[in-house]
Amino acid sequence: MSHLTPAQLQALTQMLDQRATAAQAEIRAQAGQRADEPYADLSGGVNDPGDDATADQIVDLDNAMIGMELSELRDIAAARERMKNGRYGVCIDCQQEIDFERLGAYPTAKRCARCQGLHERTFASAPHPTL
Ligand SMILES: [Zn+2]
Repeated sequence: MSHLTPAQLQALTQMLDQRATAAQAEIRAQAGQRADEPYADLSGGVNDPGDDATADQIVDLDNAMIGMELSELRDIAAARERMKNGRYGVCIDCQQEIDFERLGAYPTAKRCARCQGLHERTFASAPHPTL
């Protein structure tokens, strides 16, 4: 059984719903706005090595952001699936329970903080999303 209370699970379910809605809205916005405001919203989270990005690079960044949102939607779907199976909130690496505090910050978390740290060091070569 899950170590989370029904109220905690409900709160996390709502967070997943909100994230899914936001991700879908972001995808629509990105797909619709690239012609008029190519630089909008690109400064957050994406380290562009220069200000002289070509149109191609801007399109690549848009695609990367859409890709991030799509992978977020996949993570959310997977988290909902784990909730259904009663495996939500259990680390996929060490099978330990993931703290509610961590799930509150990352409702799609598949690993506990310790295993996530190990995982990120192991796969540290890709800080940016790859296309
Ligand atoms: Zn773990």
